[in-house]
Amino acid sequence: MDIKRAVKTQESIFNMLKKAKANGRLSHAYLFYGEEGTGKKEMAFALAALHYCPNGGCLECDVCKTVLSGNHMNVDYIGIAEDKKLISKDQISSLQEEFSKTSLVEGTRIYIVDGIDTATSAAQNSLLKFIEEPINKTPTVGIFIAKDLSNVVSTIQSRCIIEHFNAIDHASRAKILIESGYEPLDSILATDLTNNPDEAIEIIKNNNFRTFVEALLELITVEKPKDAVYYYLNNVSIFSSSENLKVLLSWYLLFLEDANVCVGNDSNLILYPLCDKIITYRKKNERRLRDLLEMTLSLFKKLNANVTAKNVFHELTVKII
Ligand SMILES: [Zn+2]
Repeated sequence: MDIKRAVKTQESIFNMLKKAKANGRLSHAYLFYGEEGTGKKEMAFALAALHYCPNGGCLECDVCKTVLSGNHMNVDYIGIAEDKKLISKDQISSLQEEFSKTSLVEGTRIYIVDGIDTATSAAQNSLLKFIEEPINKTPTVGIFIAKDLSNVVSTIQSRCIIEHFNAIDHASRAKILIESGYEPLDSILATDLTNNPDEAIEIIKNNNFRTFVEALLELITVEKPKDAVYYYLNNVSIFSSSENLKVLLSWYLLFLEDANVCVGNDSNLILYPLCDKIITYRKKNERRLRDLLEMTLSLFKKLNANVTAKNVFHELTVKII
């Protein structure tokens, strides 16, 4: 995620950090936690930049840029490697080794541990040393990032200032993409599938994305949704995968929820680019909207419980008439 954009979505946290900096009260240990895609990593780098920026955290100057691009000599970052699920012991040992050396540049040294909640308790405790005693008399700042606070050892929690990162709501996530030039409908659908705006952009760029959108448009406009479902089951192989069918059902649910709350020309609809279609659909299906919602939701749950896509599809063809 673009760092400045991410910081803007969590502005109150950054303002609080800037204020602490201005008052000379920045802590030497922070723990940021919250869901994926809420800007924790970006904020960690922004906080690191705040330590060195001569302008109180402008995120624009050369010093800030060096930190934000990951090139500052005194800022170390470790995160979960792409093919791994957790922070390894080796990563933590090499971080410790790095910190035992004298730094080349004077001033505060900062380490960011992204995914502290995935490290073993022993590994987490070994990091405490940094918090407890600055190495080589150099001031040290630790910034820990976690998704699940309950997996962070209490000894770390008790020494950190803990900040919770609220999930960015669906409309705001979509707005980030729309402002970056993506079509409103694409932006809304893609951000339904992930909290992370960067991931949402990847979803739009995926070759299958258009097929998914067309399938949704077909499903909501044809006279008999059953025919559309049947067609997709038999002709579009990507929907034989449960994961892909889940995407379609998740969007269909958004549409049905909108149709269920829609009263006339409603600007509060999530899928507002489909406003006309939602109104038409509601008029046609008003009586069975609740049933459709319940049925789709139960199919969605079945997919989550590993019922095969084919079976769910068959159920869909039987029930959506
Ligand atoms: Zn700056």
